[in-house]
Amino acid sequence: MSIIDDSNKYVLNTYSRYPLVFDHGEDVWLYTEDGGKYLDMYAGVAVSSLGHNHPNLINAIQEQSKKILHTSNLYYTKPYTELAKKLIEKTVFDKVFFCNSGAEANEAALKITRKHGKNLEYKAKYEVIALNNSFHGRTIATLSATGQKKYQKGFEPLLEGFIFVEMNNKEELKRVVSSKTAAILIEPIQGEGGIHPAFFDFIETARKLCDEYNAILIFDEVQSAIGRTGKLFGYENFLPVEPDIITIAKGLGGGLPIGAILIKEKFADLLKPSEHASTFGGNPVCCAAANAVLDTIDKENILKNVKTLGEYFRNKLNKLKEKYSFIIDVRGMGLLNGIELKIKVKDIIEKLLEKNIVTIPAGANVIRFLPPLIVKKEHIDTVITALDEVFKSF
Ligand code: PLP
Repeated sequence: MSIIDDSNKYVLNTYSRYPLVFDHGEDVWLYTEDGGKYLDMYAGVAVSSLGHNHPNLINAIQEQSKKILHTSNLYYTKPYTELAKKLIEKTVFDKVFFCNSGAEANEAALKITRKHGKNLEYKAKYEVIALNNSFHGRTIATLSATGQKKYQKGFEPLLEGFIFVEMNNKEELKRVVSSKTAAILIEPIQGEGGIHPAFFDFIETARKLCDEYNAILIFDEVQSAIGRTGKLFGYENFLPVEPDIITIAKGLGGGLPIGAILIKEKFADLLKPSEHASTFGGNPVCCAAANAVLDTIDKENILKNVKTLGEYFRNKLNKLKEKYSFIIDVRGMGLLNGIELKIKVKDIIEKLLEKNIVTIPAGANVIRFLPPLIVKKEHIDTVITALDEVFKSF
């Protein structure tokens, strides 16, 4: 039996996969067992921030795994402490909680929201205002917070207390906020939902309303943090406005599973000992990897690369838009970009795959480009040429 056949036989059928077995990776390239070479324009859904075998990342993982793999959170470790310190020193936040994924980070933020509301007004203050088209994860709580029916269908009853408004609609936000609002939850740039950046005045309004109604402003930066938008964290694009909590994961471990919330002092004492925990959260090998990712972003000036190449990419995509009327829009920030099409995105993604380029869809009809942050101009040129060739036949 082949890997694909065995996988289909033994693994729960929850993913639609392409018939490729990736065996190893190098820089921005993915290789199949039989020697196929693919340009990675999705980074394992915004995870492989430093590409596939960055020596700093590999060394950090190797060195830490020789020392100790796991301790649980009942004891202290150096990589964990170093990472917490680094994250706090690089941001406007005061405390960290480590977990393993984006959904878990959001789950922690939602539990803090519940505690916040209960502290103020027992039972009454638990509503979370979230956004249409958002994506926050697949657990029941994060699914309840996700503003897309297609993900929720079949899993009802969901948690109550989530109210959805349109992204960037200040008036609607003002209309639904009340003394029951415990948090406003926003992706600063919606990834899964089709690459929709928030506007500054919407974020500013959300901040003002949170202050007025004593609610927590949460940014889900699971997809947009760790350099993806050209700033280390998504919230930095909206300064001087600051959220109270950000949730991060994906690119932080560069390929190893780690998530975290970063939180302001004001809300940092809501969870008491044993009220929240994670066996693997802050695993020393994952934290060593995350330390290497953050150090490398600094040392190699990767944010500059993200900004420059992000602009270059969008300019080239906009040139294609002038040429092909079925391109409705080009949207994005840094190296989180998408093109919205009138034609079927699935067909284009398959044609790109035939040309050995890996991309993913987003939203209703968007192709999402999330290359490793170390991508070079020549790789973007390859994608643009391939897109041009594919588009010609439509
Ligand atoms: N939040 C956002 C914005 C995401 O893009 C994702 C995943 O795509 C999640 C949360 C869920 O993260 P995970 O799959 O690590 O649970």
